[in-house]
Amino acid sequence: MNFADIILPLAQPCYTFAVSHIPDLKVGEAVAVQFGQRSVYTGIVLRLHNDPPRRGKVKPVIKRLYDFPLLNSRQIEFWNWMASYYLCSVGEVMRIALPSLVKPHAQTEELYQPYTLPQERVLRLKSMPEGEELERLSRRAPRRAALLALLQSNGGEIPRNECQADSAIISALTKAGMIEIFERDCQPQQLPITRSLLPMLSPEQNEALRRIDSGLEACNVALLHGVTSSGKTEIYTHRIAQALSKGQDVLLLVPEISLTAQLVERMRGMFGQRVIAYHSKLTPQRRTQIYMDMLRTPAGNFIVGARSALFLPYKQLGLVVVDEEHDSSYKQSEPNPRYNGRDAAVMLAAIHHAKTILGSATPSLESFNNAMAGKYAGVTLMSRYGGSLPPKIIISDTIRAVKRGERKSHFNKELLDRIADRLEHGEQIMLFQNRRGYAPYVECPRCGWTARCPHCNVTLSRHLKSASLRCHYCGYSVPQSINCPECKTSQLEAKGFGTEKVEEEIAALFPSARVLRLDSDSAGSDAAYNRIISQFAAGEADILVGTQIISKGLDFKGVTLIGVLNADNLTNAPDFRAVERAWQTVLQVAGRAGRRDKAGEVVVQTADPNHPLFAALSERGYQHFAAAQLRERQMFNYPPFSRLIRITLRHHTAKTLADTASALGTTLREKFGSRVLGPVTPLIDRIRGEMIVEIILKIETTASFSRAKEIVSEQVTTLRQHPEHKGVTIICDVDPI
Ligand code: ADP
Ligand code: ZN
Ligand code: ZN
Repeated sequence: MNFADIILPLAQPCYTFAVSHIPDLKVGEAVAVQFGQRSVYTGIVLRLHNDPPRRGKVKPVIKRLYDFPLLNSRQIEFWNWMASYYLCSVGEVMRIALPSLVKPHAQTEELYQPYTLPQERVLRLKSMPEGEELERLSRRAPRRAALLALLQSNGGEIPRNECQADSAIISALTKAGMIEIFERDCQPQQLPITRSLLPMLSPEQNEALRRIDSGLEACNVALLHGVTSSGKTEIYTHRIAQALSKGQDVLLLVPEISLTAQLVERMRGMFGQRVIAYHSKLTPQRRTQIYMDMLRTPAGNFIVGARSALFLPYKQLGLVVVDEEHDSSYKQSEPNPRYNGRDAAVMLAAIHHAKTILGSATPSLESFNNAMAGKYAGVTLMSRYGGSLPPKIIISDTIRAVKRGERKSHFNKELLDRIADRLEHGEQIMLFQNRRGYAPYVECPRCGWTARCPHCNVTLSRHLKSASLRCHYCGYSVPQSINCPECKTSQLEAKGFGTEKVEEEIAALFPSARVLRLDSDSAGSDAAYNRIISQFAAGEADILVGTQIISKGLDFKGVTLIGVLNADNLTNAPDFRAVERAWQTVLQVAGRAGRRDKAGEVVVQTADPNHPLFAALSERGYQHFAAAQLRERQMFNYPPFSRLIRITLRHHTAKTLADTASALGTTLREKFGSRVLGPVTPLIDRIRGEMIVEIILKIETTASFSRAKEIVSEQVTTLRQHPEHKGVTIICDVDPI
């Protein structure tokens, strides 16, 4: 072939290069190409053909980089799907899909250094002494003879660092011409699977597994709705073992990197060292090693990872498990591709003709709806393993508590009495507030001045530990001032409350209690996160105050009481998913209580106890709750009854932004009519000094979504090229969250 379309790690379409000077080039191979003035990039061959491009001179590819493709055909199919589904370039997929070391680029050809596989030194047997010569050697230099024997029994070759012999012996044998040393690429690692006994399933678990088995036959995707502690993980392991025993790859996805370590441990207990953790916090070297090893070993790898693990070079996936499938952390919100890891997992499995299990104690309405429609096989598991009791949920009315004088700082008496009781019994307590810092804003009681971020249209949060006011959107921070800078007469008051304030108040109310706090301020690093978790698990604290982080995956045996301090924060979010999210969050937090012999209690504080959410707030209430929510979504034509594309426009000047947004709105309206909403100003309309405007497209499920996206893409591309609109950033988010 004469030409190749090459993927470059850029927000650009693929470009065509000449390749006739490179024999036998294949799709998926990595090449070095010159792009731009002098820059050299690592590119991937997407397509080979003989059609010269209509415009411009075609540059030849500089060189091929390896003697094997860096991508297999299924990965290419997956990348193409992702780019077209999420409206971005294949190059942008490449940017996040390949470990950074294997896709270097440089300003000049001299500076460009492709990735090379690590090398290892290997000893090779050249001539084995025989008869008398061997006997003499064995007598005079037994250790030399032993090394020769070892080499012989190993097929003649052993990597240098795998044999104990010291260098004197090796150099003597080399000099004698009996062995030689050579260098080669390090051999790929594929550690053994050691299969220990899988956990015996309870009758209920067995029944769920049986229904997953038959469901997967019919649908390929199963949704396992299993309450917290029902043993979903144990059920997965049976299907995982089955796929591994067929020599297939298995991917077990979790929504957050912090959850991989725990699960890898559990899986290693059953499958041994073959279990590999993969996520973006590993070192570039480790990620590259995993990628290159998988490329060069047969299928049968078992990966536990976060969404970036979707891009590994699986040869034959047999099973993909998406744990906590409802979790919005599966969505990559920035940068492109803005993909949902759960949805991409289902697609990846389909490309491999593999099965998918989606698991959750609080399934997303999208997946629930798919199960109702028969697209997925729905399986429920409503009993906890070992018969532990579901948590008891108590809705506590804050308004009534205030009226009766039964509220101290941010706690109702119903909660405080229980905290006192648990502390007395030496049991643990978790307090959830989905806001970090001390207070979300500070206000002058006299003139009403509030501290705002100079770059974003938001208030600054007060942080106690750092004595500062901070912006949670751009990171801007100023030292906390005591007096109002406006009227200079009055002291600023902290309004609302975050985890730091909860920590302070609870310590004041219960001076002898040991309190820990877990949020992104206190658990900035993995080490800090692990320290807090293990301290609390070891019973070194009585109360754990935290944000969303405490609701995920943690299992503390000593916790018997949970307080949700302000549920209204959750339900009042300006988002059609707010109620669904609130329900999931409260139940996930509740799931941390009393996971063994004691039934836990969960006190949910709210000023709006009649909100329909609270009536459905039990695991068994899900069917009812979900059905009601879906009816509402249908009425207002929200997903899953429509699909959304959110187009965000950003610019420093309001006028340019408004002009561009209205131009785009007008052209889109010509094509889509009333399906176009906006341009509208979002709640937070300025971040990092840029104004923000949004246009939402709502496409009914009966229409062609791919055609709609093509039109959006064309219009946005045209607009971007227009000189008047050039400086405006336009971002398309498909299935925004
Ligand atoms: P889920 O993921 O549904 O919340 P887990 O899989 O974490 O539940 O199980 C909860 C607890 O019960 C775990 O400690 C697990 O080891 C235990 N467990 C569940 N099923 C079994 C089983 N069949 N045999 C032994 N232990 C089990
Ligand atoms: Zn003032
Ligand atoms: Zn800011």
